[in-house]
Amino acid sequence: MSDNADRADARIAAAVQSALNKVRDTPSLCGDGHCHFCEEAVPDARVFCNADCRDDYQKHQAGRRRAGY
Ligand SMILES: [Zn+2]
Repeated sequence: MSDNADRADARIAAAVQSALNKVRDTPSLCGDGHCHFCEEAVPDARVFCNADCRDDYQKHQAGRRRAGY
């Protein structure tokens, strides 16, 4: 009985983790060799040059959503 509950918990935890990873990776962006926030050149497959740019970009996007764009 508790085994089933444990397995369900593990599945839920995995689904939540997967969703969080997707959000963190901002899957709507694809790397084009330039930071999406400051346009600095970055190694391919990366979308931001550093965590600060990623955070600033996400804040910027959240602000746009709040403003209704
Ligand atoms: Zn940048």
